[in-house]
Amino acid sequence: MRRLVISDIHANLEALNAVLDAAEGAYDGVLCLGDTVGYGANPNECSERVANLPHLVCLVGNHDLAALGAIDIQAFNPFARTAAEWTGKQLSVAARPFLEGLVPEGHTDHVALAHASPRDPIWEYVEDASQGPPNFAMFEELVCLVGHTHIALVLTSAPGTNTYNCEVTYGKPSSVLDLSDKQKRIVNPGSVGQPRDGDTRAAYALWDTKSGNWEFCRTGYDIKATQSKIVAAGLPSLLGERLHLGR
Ligand code: ZN
Repeated sequence: MRRLVISDIHANLEALNAVLDAAEGAYDGVLCLGDTVGYGANPNECSERVANLPHLVCLVGNHDLAALGAIDIQAFNPFARTAAEWTGKQLSVAARPFLEGLVPEGHTDHVALAHASPRDPIWEYVEDASQGPPNFAMFEELVCLVGHTHIALVLTSAPGTNTYNCEVTYGKPSSVLDLSDKQKRIVNPGSVGQPRDGDTRAAYALWDTKSGNWEFCRTGYDIKATQSKIVAAGLPSLLGERLHLGR
């Protein structure tokens, strides 16, 4: 199957629509790695759009769980907490049960899935090579797909060594990977709705589960429209401003 892989949409409908437009015709099924809501002004529209995507496999993320009131949000920064409380009040009769029906980890297409990390699917930010080995030990498949950090990135078990070595590479736009090459990896497609790698464009990936070909992709969207909605909703304006920084 040709999979569109998306994560961390964060209620940014303009970014989600731009990704679905850019990837149109290039996928048959969708993997969504969680945090569909939280931060942005369109939690219901994004949840409903995701719920209706073809052959969907979707995880729940920490911000989704926060909006549902299912986890303690004391660890959130004040802006994230405000957004989680606002989102919880907005969730529609369609969006809420969709999000409530999701879990933060899973397996599909011969890969493992986790919103955050294999050993802590809700909270751990996988950013560093030292996090590779203990996480590689937590899944049986060769590859685990994660989101959560909002940074397109690959952790690879270094070739010819045991699992105690690991290298980190960033998923540069248009760069490709061969996920069929038998290397142990953790792969993050980046964030649709709030990229944090300095590139303001929405991030996603296209993955051919048969050939193993994985491509990191970016597409621009109307950031100003998203920012205006955040302000109009009464959400912290910083949540809009950061979209212009890609941080
Ligand atoms: Zn997120």
